[in-house]
Amino acid sequence: MPSAYIGIGSNLGDRLENCRKALALLESRGIRTTALSAPYETKPWGMGQPDLVAGQPDFINMAARIETDSGGPAAILEALQEVEREMGRVRRRKWEPRVIDLDILLFGDEIIDLPGLKVPHPLMHLREFALRPLAEIAPQVVHPVLKKTVSQLLAELQKTEGGGK
Ligand code: ATP
Ligand code: CA
Ligand code: CA
Repeated sequence: MPSAYIGIGSNLGDRLENCRKALALLESRGIRTTALSAPYETKPWGMGQPDLVAGQPDFINMAARIETDSGGPAAILEALQEVEREMGRVRRRKWEPRVIDLDILLFGDEIIDLPGLKVPHPLMHLREFALRPLAEIAPQVVHPVLKKTVSQLLAELQKTEGGGK
């Protein structure tokens, strides 16, 4: 399969442990981690809607390259959502605090635009918390829509005011 990258985030409870546990649970579903960034502590992001994240705890964010023999992007998304549920994530409203958030960032150079699955993740290039960990493990990987490398996207974002935070 092509190289797939996921973003991992937590801002409730033992955040680092939550991220590690999610990876272990994915492993038990046949989704192996083949590269992992360091954890980054980041401020909640609420581009254009700061009221949604005001007062929320900071996140731990990581990026991982993953590999599986059992299915493509839709199957991977399903596994990510099962792990989120298993870890007790409650879905109420957009961008609320969560024990775990697992997003597919990139799936090789595939472009997917389905109602429940958009790849590359449509906001990843605007989010330092996604790009910074990703740039650590995939600096030269090219965003198939924007045709720029992850490190280029990160540099551009950091040039704009506030680094997109
Ligand atoms: P954001 O997508 O802005 O990061 P979020 O992660 O908080 O927000 P969720 O509530 O976790 O949003 O997910 C909402 C829906 O997004 C999911 O039900 C899923 O179907 C859909 N989705 C679309 N594309 C993706 C993707 N690339 N990775 C994960 N979920 C996705
Ligand atoms: Ca997310
Ligand atoms: Ca999500």
